[in-house]
Amino acid sequence: MLFEDFGLLPALSRAVAEKGYSTPTPIQAKAIPAVLAGRDVIAGAQTGTGKTAAFVLPILHRLVQSSGGSPRALVLTPTRELAAQVAESARTYGRYADARIAVVYGGVSINPQIEVLRRRCDLLVATPGRLLDLAERRAVDLREVQTFVLDEADRMLDMGFIPAIRRVLALLPAQRQNLMFSATYSDEIRALSKRFLRDPEAIEVSARNVTADRIEELVYRVPREHKRHLLAHLIDSGSWQQVLVFTRTKSGANRLAQHLEGRGIRTAAIHGNKSQGARERALADFKARRITALVATEIASRGLDIKELPHVVNFEMPNVPEDYVHRIGRTARAGGAGCAVSLVAPEEVPLLRSVEKVLRRSLVVAISPAFAVPQSPAYSAHPAPARVTQPRRAYATPRHASRAAGGRR
Ligand code: AMP
Repeated sequence: MLFEDFGLLPALSRAVAEKGYSTPTPIQAKAIPAVLAGRDVIAGAQTGTGKTAAFVLPILHRLVQSSGGSPRALVLTPTRELAAQVAESARTYGRYADARIAVVYGGVSINPQIEVLRRRCDLLVATPGRLLDLAERRAVDLREVQTFVLDEADRMLDMGFIPAIRRVLALLPAQRQNLMFSATYSDEIRALSKRFLRDPEAIEVSARNVTADRIEELVYRVPREHKRHLLAHLIDSGSWQQVLVFTRTKSGANRLAQHLEGRGIRTAAIHGNKSQGARERALADFKARRITALVATEIASRGLDIKELPHVVNFEMPNVPEDYVHRIGRTARAGGAGCAVSLVAPEEVPLLRSVEKVLRRSLVVAISPAFAVPQSPAYSAHPAPARVTQPRRAYATPRHASRAAGGRR
């Protein structure tokens, strides 16, 4: 299957060819014809599968061929980062097509967005809260929307956006096409989909709640107080160039970033207390490889599109097991290989078990001689053999490591 087979407008095919894509990803192969045919779609696809192009390309195709008010397509995303990325993709794919794209999200001043919306826009990408704010101020009129996309619906749910989505739905015309994307399925997601999808085509690109194939997943059992030393050691000894690290709290993210910096690893932290500007700068530095480690809290990390991210680390296990799937979906994107490492303290073993339950398989436990906890009954439920994948040089002991780190603190 080739992109030409979709019969997309030459302007769109040209932009796709310039991106260097010849073969559609599985989600694109299934979703593009369905969206072009005007069908509603429910798709189970995580970030990294090419899902953005799967809805952006056929929507742009239909927009260029139809007429009407402004906007005629609306994409809702849970976070501003994802909104910015979707808009960026739409601009890239639409660079030769006559379609105007606008993006609005919270955390930045609203007036420039009101200005942008005064002009005509065909495709609007928005986060729910800001969109409602703009609608209340009559800066945007959603009555002409022909295609509505709910991206990362499971995230929306986690973040408590369902009431906001309901309010947005009430502003849309009854006659419209609806697309919904979600990395994971739950009863709530199904209930949400029934609320607004009509006879949807269901598209599933990888088995449910199963992480992408080419990600090597490893668990290190390590006491909480040794985690930061082990992480610095993994980064150094493996010569990692780019690693996204998830922490549970904002203060934890700051502390860890400080520690890594103290160890000579260029690091930035992104979380909700950072300004939009600081978050964008950190992301740009990370993408350009000016920094090695990006430490992020769950919410700040959502939807980050970083190409071929080789390493993802769960510094703490997520409280919500489905988040594991999202987090490690940041690696091995669109066919690249990746490695996802989880640092699990003894008290986090129940969280590890919940993740394994969602995955329906157990994760491999790696042994790091210098930092490992003694064989503890807490871990013995693990059937998988221990293995080490990093080429190892001499190990710093935790004591050395903490002394080395002590300089800056
Ligand atoms: P997404 O899942 O939409 O976040 O996309 C993941 C990444 O895959 C993005 O960096 C896209 O630019 C890239 N991508 C999308 N479609 C293709 C394709 N057909 N072939 C190769 N890479 C793609």
